[in-house]
Amino acid sequence: MAIKLGVDLGGTKTEIVALDPGGEVLLRRRVPTGQGYQAIIETIARLVREAEAELGETGTVGVGIPGSINPRTGLVRNGNTQALNGQALDKDLGALLSREVRVMNDANCLAMSEAADGAGAGYPVVFAAILGTGCGGGWVVDGRPLDGLNRVAGEWGHTPLPWMRPEEFPGRACWCGRNGCLETFLCGPAIAEDTDGPGHRDAGKVEARALAGDPAAQAGLARHADRLARALALIVNIVDPDVIVLGGGVSNYAHLYRDVPDLMAPWIFGDSKKVNLVRAKHGDSSGVFGAARLWDKG
Ligand SMILES: [Zn+2]
Repeated sequence: MAIKLGVDLGGTKTEIVALDPGGEVLLRRRVPTGQGYQAIIETIARLVREAEAELGETGTVGVGIPGSINPRTGLVRNGNTQALNGQALDKDLGALLSREVRVMNDANCLAMSEAADGAGAGYPVVFAAILGTGCGGGWVVDGRPLDGLNRVAGEWGHTPLPWMRPEEFPGRACWCGRNGCLETFLCGPAIAEDTDGPGHRDAGKVEARALAGDPAAQAGLARHADRLARALALIVNIVDPDVIVLGGGVSNYAHLYRDVPDLMAPWIFGDSKKVNLVRAKHGDSSGVFGAARLWDKG
């Protein structure tokens, strides 16, 4: 098997990429995600078969999903694509394609892609965080995904905001059932709600207004940067990654790379405060490239 096939399963689009052994893109295609579980897996299988027919080769298959597979039950959980939850996605796809298929959380796929040939290339320990409509994270150590005993390693978005200030405590209710999760402070909709009040979800508008000099928007982004700094300082205090890569829509805010490392310093233990905080190189493509790399280390 020479080629590597990666599939990024999103709520509205399913994308496939075929990479050659050196990581060059051979083929790339995007179709609407099927409606319902059976249509979803048949769409993925068809994309794989068509890519292989076109390239005249078979390959390894990795799939990135929102959510993960519970190692105890073998079923998808925590996914915001409801049709996947409770399904044995890897087994069912494996049966359709007559081979083993690897399925992993999309934040882990971001980490794999960025560690291989993106903003995290050359660093042994990579933490990648997605700040988009939600907030997740993933680890890669020496080129391999580190997903943990429960497959929840990197689920940073559902840990509490550290060193909460009195006005932040106890935090808003999160869909996961707890209060004050990082996701309720750091993702795009959280920025809009914090700045403009309940019901606002478009963080892009907040950034545009801040850049135009609106003090309320600038204050909202400053609170967000301060919270992100505390959240990442906690990661440094526990694992101290060689590089931290940000992906997702919020990662396009240029001020984060300028301001957040300095804002992290007071919360990092000890007298060395070095932080490598960088933007994902592959942008929206990291998920599909990372999925294709799920078999890179055997
Ligand atoms: Zn939560």
